[in-house]
Amino acid sequence: MFDKILIANRGEIALRILRAARELGIATVAVHSTADAEAMHVKLADESVCIGPPAARDSYLNIPALLAACEITGADAVHPGYGFLSENAGFADILAEHGIGFIGPKADHIRIMGDKIEAKRTARALGIPCVPGSDGAITEDAEALRVAETIGYPVLVKAASGGGGRGMKVAHSAAELSDALATARTEAKAAFGDDAVYLEKYLMRPRHIEIQILGDGQGRAIHLGERDCSLQRRHQKVLEESPSPALNDGQREEIGEICAAAMRKLGYSGVGTIEFLYEDGAFYFIEMNTRIQVEHPVTEMVTGFDLVNEQILIAAGSQLSITQADVHMRGHAIECRINAENAATFRPSPGKIAYYHPPGGLGVRVDSAVYQGYTIPPYYDSLVGKLIVHGRNRNEALLRLRRSLGEFIVDGIDTTIPLFRALVQNPDIQNGDYDIHWLERFLADGGMGGTS
Ligand code: ADP
Repeated sequence: MFDKILIANRGEIALRILRAARELGIATVAVHSTADAEAMHVKLADESVCIGPPAARDSYLNIPALLAACEITGADAVHPGYGFLSENAGFADILAEHGIGFIGPKADHIRIMGDKIEAKRTARALGIPCVPGSDGAITEDAEALRVAETIGYPVLVKAASGGGGRGMKVAHSAAELSDALATARTEAKAAFGDDAVYLEKYLMRPRHIEIQILGDGQGRAIHLGERDCSLQRRHQKVLEESPSPALNDGQREEIGEICAAAMRKLGYSGVGTIEFLYEDGAFYFIEMNTRIQVEHPVTEMVTGFDLVNEQILIAAGSQLSITQADVHMRGHAIECRINAENAATFRPSPGKIAYYHPPGGLGVRVDSAVYQGYTIPPYYDSLVGKLIVHGRNRNEALLRLRRSLGEFIVDGIDTTIPLFRALVQNPDIQNGDYDIHWLERFLADGGMGGTS
């Protein structure tokens, strides 16, 4: 087992990792930029090291500084959290060269899944159903036109190195396709330094349903059910729930076992998420995330397993101790991502939190790293915290969510709490009747009284 884990992240996920490590009796090292000297993860860790100035590329993405911090503190493993270096295969390789454990999957698997074209090819070979589209990267417009004719319009041009919804363009006709290709290539080049794009059938009203998997790289892998993340704005998840209102037990077992079997075949080690679009009863693979995800708590709440704890044990070489028969989904969980943004305009709102009162009570969990008097710096993503509720069924979870949102006070900055207060009252949300475009429509129709 590791003696000391360096947490190469900040915010709520740094705290989340710290809590898991502490319960395992493992010492923790926080790293921080100069902008984060007063951050909660720094205050709570056993040790902390300043690794650079505010800009992430000079601090949280600064590999030499992170290695030096490991050296100084004697940390024998690094947990990368999500974002930053969590899906950087080169970072995993460098740590291995220095004899430091990486709490994540094998570097090769990160590499494969980080390239969406390679990921799709691998998924298909492992028996996972995929969205119809081009077999690989598209270089010639003529080839794109040919593929689009075969799969039918509308089509989606996607960046091979894509992430965060960037580099995606829809084309509804052949006339629109060459523009979409050019724009997607330019965006992809600017955002990822790689202009490779591919083509997919654009699904009109799918849900986003993802399967949480856990593997030990030693032949064992299980699934922990699904999360429905269909409520999105600009391809970014806003609210997630488990189980999905759209699936029954049989469908869950079937897709879950396809994913678990694929991970056994791959020899996958650690936590991972296989993301699908789901339409008319069929699943279509879009990508796999090889890290802990923001929305992992909804799975923890319905299964009772601590995913970060499992992640650490597996990285330390333990066999998976949970079998598929041990996994039971109990009740229903919903997570709201609360951002420091105006709830109608989504304009970022960093600044000082004058008053902070999180909700509590049965079935309520708040994963956050903010506190009263804390100043949210403007340099990083705007997630303030996550409110997760659990109930015996979906209706109870919704009532609990409504009650908790009513208690939640964050004064001094704008947050997206009012958006969730509106959503929880909405009949479509109450009925679980929404697809990936629902939230954009709601906002465009003036659901929050502003324009998005
Ligand atoms: P990223 O890595 O940039 O997040 P994904 O491939 O995971 O990209 O897609 C992000 C979101 O974009 C999905 O959750 C979905 O809302 C939308 N999307 C992706 N592929 C398709 C598709 N073929 N048809 C319709 N929507 C899609």
